[in-house]
Amino acid sequence: MTPLDPLAARIGDIPLITQEKAVRAKSRDFFWYSPVLKSRLDDVTAEAVVAPRSEAEVVTVLAACHDLDIPVTPRGGGTGNYGQAMPLAGGVVLDMARMTRILELRPGRVVTEAGALMGDIDTAARAELGEELRLHPSTRETATIAGFVAGGSGGVGSIRWGMLAEPGNILRLRIATMESTPRLIDLTGEEIAQVHHAYGVTGVITEVEMPLAPAPDWVEMLIAWPGWTDALAAGHRIACAEGLWLKQLAAVEAPAPHAYFLRHRKFLDAGDNLLCLMVAPNSADALAGLAAGMGGTMRYRSDTAPQDARAGLPHLHHLAWNHTTLRALKTDPEITYLQMGYPEGREIETCAEIARRYPDEIVNHVEFTRSGGRVRFGSLPMVRFTTEARLVALMLELEAMGCPIWNPHAHTLEEGNHRDADPAQIALKKANDPKGLLNPGKMIGWEDPGYRYDPRGGYAYAATGRAVS
Ligand SMILES: Cc1cc2nc3c(=O)[nH]c(=O)nc-3n(C[C@H](O)[C@H](O)[C@H](O)COP(=O)(O)OP(=O)(O)OC[C@H]3O[C@@H](n4cnc5c(N)ncnc54)[C@H](O)[C@@H]3O)c2cc1C
Repeated sequence: MTPLDPLAARIGDIPLITQEKAVRAKSRDFFWYSPVLKSRLDDVTAEAVVAPRSEAEVVTVLAACHDLDIPVTPRGGGTGNYGQAMPLAGGVVLDMARMTRILELRPGRVVTEAGALMGDIDTAARAELGEELRLHPSTRETATIAGFVAGGSGGVGSIRWGMLAEPGNILRLRIATMESTPRLIDLTGEEIAQVHHAYGVTGVITEVEMPLAPAPDWVEMLIAWPGWTDALAAGHRIACAEGLWLKQLAAVEAPAPHAYFLRHRKFLDAGDNLLCLMVAPNSADALAGLAAGMGGTMRYRSDTAPQDARAGLPHLHHLAWNHTTLRALKTDPEITYLQMGYPEGREIETCAEIARRYPDEIVNHVEFTRSGGRVRFGSLPMVRFTTEARLVALMLELEAMGCPIWNPHAHTLEEGNHRDADPAQIALKKANDPKGLLNPGKMIGWEDPGYRYDPRGGYAYAATGRAVS
């Protein structure tokens, strides 16, 4: 009799995987993006993977695991890059990848099961309605919609629609609770906030309703400037131009574009500071004219480039968001990254100061987004990694310059979101997961309700058995 036998007996024919290699593969996400998490979480593994095929099966699994005191870590595509989907306390990985049905598709909205891939949702919505999801991460093709809601924050589309947390960007979530008799709860409006970006600790999402937006044939553009701050100023001006219909706008500092965008390199010069854009066809000429007037050189434009020049190129969104870091990592494994903001109104001068202070340590990457009626500079700078101690010191130096850091080298909600323990979220967890079995180790407030944000990170969850410096 193994500890999993009672579980197998309770869940009947719901797929249960115990083969060690397969379990280990499903116990890992993109945690290795961070050298800090890589050293700390490399040995983490679950005991089994359970793969429900329907909401009813999710309920069966949660009830059984609750009664048997088995920790459950939900998993979508496993593309999260802070170890959010790593089963720190062992137990079961709840693999949602078989729940992929699109349940309803009508103008302006889509309802799907949790495990639907965003690329598949976009393909179906475009074919049927000429629409698409408002937002997707740069991992659209491999990430699930519920994984994005539970683990992500924004992405392609955020220049037009803001971050995922903006009211209206998630319409409804259905969650299953972790109790002897799990409840199914539909959340709308402000209730969504305690489940969005909560890493599944407050409930397992079974169904998602999202708004759709018109889907033109986006034109991809790469526009270059010799100067970094000139590229940023142009990006800001373009982002503020209300008449331009944009889907994506990032600025990447030299030498990263030429050094790391290998398949686009043939269009680029070594010193290019690059704006990476997706724009609707009816805005493309106006955008090109505006950029030229600000001294930009069009390096690539998908609607005018010859067919043979376009062959084999990745989507432009695969140069942006965390894919910029991925491209850097593929060429230079010593690169890591941060996630940060800038002091309001001093964004460009702060970027210039960072370039001046850290010429050998930071190559910057800014994602322009919108929130609260303003254009924002979000940043995913590429950082040359030496030691964890130096990375922490760098984060503290940047914070002292007025740049808030959302620490991507931490697997907890509080450290990653730059916040204290949240009593409302703890209360919801108590109601929905009274035994604390959902994704243990990701919510410091569950173990320490008085926790105050520490910018140095390094929270040690006991079950990983890891001493933390
Ligand atoms: C190269 C790269 C680029 C990226 N770009 C972006 C980006 O542009 N924007 C962005 O926001 N993120 C980005 N990410 C992070 C990640 O890809 C996205 O957040 C993605 O949407 C996660 O989806 P997933 O299905 O892979 O989720 P997973 O990684 O499987 O899970 C993410 C979290 O959600 C929880 N979860 C999964 N399914 C459920 C469920 N049904 N119910 C409750 N909890 C659940 C998991 O436990 C985990 O905590 C990037 C990552 C990489 C590696």
